[in-house]
Amino acid sequence: MARYTGPVCRLCRREGMKLFLKGEKCFSSKCPVEKRNFAPGQHGKDRRPKLVGYGLQLREKQKTRRVYGVLERQFRGYFERASRRAGVTGEHLLRQLEARLDNVVYRLGFATSRAQARQLVRHGHITVNGRKVNIPSYQVAVGETIAVREGSRQNPAILSALEFASHQGLPAWLEVSREQLSGRVLSVPKREDASLPIQEQMIVELYSK
Ligand code: SF4
Repeated sequence: MARYTGPVCRLCRREGMKLFLKGEKCFSSKCPVEKRNFAPGQHGKDRRPKLVGYGLQLREKQKTRRVYGVLERQFRGYFERASRRAGVTGEHLLRQLEARLDNVVYRLGFATSRAQARQLVRHGHITVNGRKVNIPSYQVAVGETIAVREGSRQNPAILSALEFASHQGLPAWLEVSREQLSGRVLSVPKREDASLPIQEQMIVELYSK
């Protein structure tokens, strides 16, 4: 399954903000956005051009893709499914991104970043309703239970992520039992449940051109 394998801090610098792609490093003074918040590349130190219209919409789409670790083709697929549904397209788009299994594993605190969560899923450490699911894009549904597989409960990466996550909040649409290493989906995610501010309307405008 295709994924971005280049330097991730560069992506944050391109967007001019922290996208929290690297787990604990993002909360430390080693974060490059803290140290050198200018765009990557030879002309990165030049003043950032003032974006309007298409430029703003493109950046918003790229930022959202990068936050959730989704490549262009798959992201477009999310948009097309969202636009076929009744209601607000942008909200359906965000809902699908939030309901990805790798995002849920991250939001439950079993991983320190979505990339790590994706790896846990791919390596078979996660179950949904008691059955192993190794597809990071799997869409969780209300009432489903997401858990760390029995044989992976002593995994040091998961235990250290849980320790790290104990200082962070949990979105209202999820509940977690840190002792059981499991969580449940209580409701569908709302747009305000996204971990970073996203102007989804701009993405809709971009794809509707
Ligand atoms: Fe982004 Fe985290 Fe790297 Fe900082 S440390 S630039 S927030 S990925």
